[in-house]
Amino acid sequence: MSDRFLAGRTALVTGSTSGIGLGIAQALAAAGARVAVNGLGSADQIAQALASVQAAGAPEARHFGADLADAAAVETMMAQIAAWSPPDILVNCAGVQHAAPIADMPAATWDKLIAINLSAAFHTLRLAMPGMGARGYGRVVNIASVHGLVASVNKSPYVASKFGLIGLSKVAALEYATAGSRESGGVTVNCICPGWVETALIEPQIAAKAEGVGGDRDAGVRELLREKQPSQRMSLPAEIASLVLWLCRNEAHNLTGAAIPVDGGWTAQ
Ligand code: NAD
Repeated sequence: MSDRFLAGRTALVTGSTSGIGLGIAQALAAAGARVAVNGLGSADQIAQALASVQAAGAPEARHFGADLADAAAVETMMAQIAAWSPPDILVNCAGVQHAAPIADMPAATWDKLIAINLSAAFHTLRLAMPGMGARGYGRVVNIASVHGLVASVNKSPYVASKFGLIGLSKVAALEYATAGSRESGGVTVNCICPGWVETALIEPQIAAKAEGVGGDRDAGVRELLREKQPSQRMSLPAEIASLVLWLCRNEAHNLTGAAIPVDGGWTAQ
């Protein structure tokens, strides 16, 4: 998959200063796309992420630092990116987690999670998709979760945001289903629904499991996998990125409105 089939295309990947988003930004860059990197982090972390996307092969890469919890900041970022190079590919990957029972979930945490995990995707796609429709090619890939397909305790805003993201994606897929042609590639909107992926996001959950079994980090990982993921293997960001790349191909023009699990069998149970 190392051909430059995305040369001339521009991609925006939210939450691409670390984890899955960074892996996706690097893969799109290696396929020749210009990449708008978005995400939080220290100046060093952002500079490193940007350098790695350039080194992967992006003809151009820039960081747009909007805090996605702020709808006005998302609008400003989308206008800046449109002026730089309108996005053909939009990957909504930014996401945050907070685990607590509903009775103990702070209302402000609920609002923040919904804003970052769900409303930001509404704002980016409502602003990016008209241009995709007009050009006859567009790809929106929303990184949802198995928690967009099934629930777990103590994750009320996360699960609600991911179920919502899948619903939003299906509506957008229908609204743009007739845009473009087989030759131009059409405009598609899909969700990828990962199970456990090795990133910073799940470190607190690994640590909690490790503590529960009185073991080290590896014991915590085994315990997390044992509970829900039948393959007993974590996914890697690069594996999620390979699927994003395939969805960007013209031959994927008829795969739209789907929520694709990459979960080692979690949702097959
Ligand atoms: P991560 O913590 O490594 O990355 C999260 C990214 O989102 C970072 O770049 C961070 O800066 C960015 N971000 C967070 N808040 C932001 C804000 N307010 N504004 C702008 N950017 C913000 O986590 P990850 O595991 O790579 O998660 C990426 C996505 O994958 C999330 O949507 C997550 O829900 C989803 N996911 C992860 C797993 C997993 O096991 N790691 C499983 C299923 C789904």
